[in-house]
Amino acid sequence: MNVVEGNGARIPAIGLGTWELSGRPAARVVEQALRLGYRHIDTAQVYDNEREVGDGLRASGVRRDDVFLTTKVWTNHFMAKDLERSAKESLARLRLTEVDLLLLHWPNSHVPLAETLGALSHARQMGLTRHIGVSNFTVALIEQAVAACPEPLACDQVEYHPYLHQADVIEACRRHGMAFVAYSPIAKGRVKGDRALARIGDRYRKSAAQVCLRWLVQQNVAAIPRTSRVERLSENIDIFDFELSEDDMREISAIGRADAR
Ligand code: NDP
Repeated sequence: MNVVEGNGARIPAIGLGTWELSGRPAARVVEQALRLGYRHIDTAQVYDNEREVGDGLRASGVRRDDVFLTTKVWTNHFMAKDLERSAKESLARLRLTEVDLLLLHWPNSHVPLAETLGALSHARQMGLTRHIGVSNFTVALIEQAVAACPEPLACDQVEYHPYLHQADVIEACRRHGMAFVAYSPIAKGRVKGDRALARIGDRYRKSAAQVCLRWLVQQNVAAIPRTSRVERLSENIDIFDFELSEDDMREISAIGRADAR
């Protein structure tokens, strides 16, 4: 599996998103994904499925060390006194001793960024997470965060797909050695009906979703598509046996609109 590097973190290029997956089906999808070769799972405190993600991880039989697991702290736990407790509660639900990546889920202007980043770094120093990062940070916030954070940030996780361009944020991440992780990477399923992506895919015997995911990883971006269906788990990871041409890459990039969030 290709990896995307971010300040020491090696993030598998395709991961499983788990937003809106819950209960036993969530555990089953995580288990299946790992059995099919996924090595990166994305969850969050606020998804209310950390327990099931942990169950799926153990049921898969895949070694803990072989899986890159991300969770996120919600914005109501950004004060120093709350963040450590929140991270420990996530670990208790996951039944793990550490995660691979702990992210600030969303900016919160009501708590000083330096305070939150100090607490996040402290969580890493305590061994609660191997790496730390942010999510939904703009270029300006990345600059502030890099300046204020005592430890390197591994990534920014941001919405990115052919209908929503993020060139400026990607550039800011690269400048600071951070990985860029694309969420909603298939535009919440909308790319399925995209005629341009389907036409390109016909040439490689790939679906529109596979072309979209390949377009992301060829930019050295990690992507975390979510699915509740086993057949799509295989589809979404089966993108490492073909390469889009430069013309294809340009054509897909030209689909983008600035207003598609
Ligand atoms: P995605 O872009 O991953 O799209 C998910 C939707 O696409 C589902 O409805 C799924 O339906 C469908 N789908 C999946 N695979 C295919 C396929 N091959 N062909 C056609 N349709 C498909 O959307 P998300 O918003 O879930 O983003 C992915 C992940 O990113 C989240 O699950 C979460 O982990 C993370 N995220 C992070 C955020 C943040 O603030 N940091 C915000 C939003 C998401 P079905 O289940 O029926 O297959």
